[in-house]
Amino acid sequence: MEGAITNVCYNMLDRNVNNGLGDRVAFYWEGNDPEDHAQITYRELLCEVCKFSNVLKKKGLKKGDSVAIYMPMIFEIIIAMLACARLGIIHSIVFGGYSEEALAERLKGGKCHLLIVGDGVWRGTKLLNLKNIADGAMAICEKQGHNVTSCVVVRHLTPAEEDIVPGGCTDYDEEEIHCVIAKRPYKKLGIHWTEGRDTWWHDEMSSVSDECEPEWMDAEDPLFILYTSGSTGKPKGVLHTQGGYMLFAATTFKYAFDYHLNDIYWCTADVGWITGHTYVCYGPLAYGATSVIFEGVPFYPDPGRFWAIIDKYKVSKFYTAPTAIRSLMKHGDEHVKRYNRESLKVLGTVGEPINPEAWLWYHKVVGNGKCAIVDTFWQTETGGHTLTPLPGATPCKPGSATFPFFGIVATLLTEDGKVIEGEGEGYLVFKQPWPGIMRTVYGNHERFETTYFKKFFGYYCTGDGARRDKDGYLWVTGHIDDMLNVSGHLISTAEVESALIEHSSVAENAVVARPHPIKGECLHCFVTLKDGKTFNSKVIEELKLQVRKKIGALATPDFLQEAPGLPKTRSGKIMRRVLRKIAVGDRNLGDVSTMADESVVDLLFKLRPNDLA
Ligand code: ATP
Ligand code: MG
Repeated sequence: MEGAITNVCYNMLDRNVNNGLGDRVAFYWEGNDPEDHAQITYRELLCEVCKFSNVLKKKGLKKGDSVAIYMPMIFEIIIAMLACARLGIIHSIVFGGYSEEALAERLKGGKCHLLIVGDGVWRGTKLLNLKNIADGAMAICEKQGHNVTSCVVVRHLTPAEEDIVPGGCTDYDEEEIHCVIAKRPYKKLGIHWTEGRDTWWHDEMSSVSDECEPEWMDAEDPLFILYTSGSTGKPKGVLHTQGGYMLFAATTFKYAFDYHLNDIYWCTADVGWITGHTYVCYGPLAYGATSVIFEGVPFYPDPGRFWAIIDKYKVSKFYTAPTAIRSLMKHGDEHVKRYNRESLKVLGTVGEPINPEAWLWYHKVVGNGKCAIVDTFWQTETGGHTLTPLPGATPCKPGSATFPFFGIVATLLTEDGKVIEGEGEGYLVFKQPWPGIMRTVYGNHERFETTYFKKFFGYYCTGDGARRDKDGYLWVTGHIDDMLNVSGHLISTAEVESALIEHSSVAENAVVARPHPIKGECLHCFVTLKDGKTFNSKVIEELKLQVRKKIGALATPDFLQEAPGLPKTRSGKIMRRVLRKIAVGDRNLGDVSTMADESVVDLLFKLRPNDLA
């Protein structure tokens, strides 16, 4: 669509308001505390977005500049990103759970001189002082010669300006006081303030007009930068553009969720991930949908929270990640069954392969056996769904993402680039471009070419492996680096993991390759048991038997170790590359900037079996 002009924000907001959807709720906000909630209509959202666009203009930002956003799941994160889109400013959103270093890296990488932050956020019972982390990140940037000159702070938890000591900071205070914004008791944040750089969002917004003409953009101009999860290595700064991305976000949203105007849609992803970009913000807004956005976590105040929210808003289309499904499953069915969930029609999943066990639980227990399950395979790079069933139209097989979406030509290749016809397993590649494909790795076009196009000339290489069964269904087995080669046989980690999780004591597990003098590679399995279960030789034997029975003697694990937790990215994906290091006792872990909880690593090193289990 090069040469055509558009404005993504205009399409999300003005167009819907002009078409009579102004009074429709765009988002219901559900706070971390079950009593906190709010809503915003399309007209109100347009008004706030125009105002914030004017703030950005006043700060001297213009088309082609970039802005970083580091915020909780509140309306302002959407307002900020759409205001950028309105002016043709490239947004780079950093998940509000990343560390100072990770944020600093992204500020520099995106050449962002303006940062928009929330003061803090509650996630369950955990309080995060986002502003202090942002201060740390800006200090790191300054040391490295990159200045962030302006920081706009959204007052989410801070009740009054008296709490801010200019240039200094009140100590972290445990005192419980009442918060004006979230209306709930909270711990005083004690944020720092740098005069000249830091300003309050509400102050900025108080003095600007609520009208702002959109900037007309070329279809191929950049829209945003977003970093990949860092599961397989250093995160890549993916660049998406205007026209193609918008079209793909809208179309995949419509068809993969079978969206209709009376639906209430809820995607639990944080806006800081691609799933949040495409399926919290751009896809649903393009269709004038009403969505729920959720600030909290699935376990607060108890593991029934998701289902409570579904009943509260009568959610009909629900989209979450296998990691959430598996961990909720671990807590038993009672928490689900307390709610009726009758409004549900389509249940989606994304992020990792979903094992059949979790798929069936999602279908039978969460969906009362009557909802379509859509296992959507895609990547930060693809912008939207690439493999997915169409609800109600595609007969499903638990654990398979089924078939390619419109416009995607999926092929399986052998290591040396031969096309695999019919049944088989190999590299999952796409044969032709589609509208939402990334256009470059920001600032490093060469990395873009090497990562995705060098290995197999003429194809986009996903880096994932997949199997095609006799009926033509595709089964994504995960990152190709995570595959195992035992005595010359390729085994997928997903397959072994699915076999292990069927054992009644297993909550979660991850399997990696470990060098073996005879077989070349052997299996090392990290197993998290359900609450109250003990890891002993009986369980080990049963698990080995389980794998032998399900897959074959060839896949019998040589090492099984207890894992009280697994190293995961902050988006909840298992980091098998870290587990591979742990398996061989190598403390040189590589880039762990996206790891959620580094403390599990030490624990796993301690529990590591040296000899054959
Ligand atoms: P990095 O590219 O930095 O190593 P990442 O690949 O995990 O990290 P994302 O773009 O967030 O970064 O995730 C895309 C990956 O997630 C896919 O390549 C695939 O491995 C996995 N994935 C996503 N959805 C599915 C799914 N439905 N089934 C199987 N795997 C999935
Ligand atoms: Mg990837």
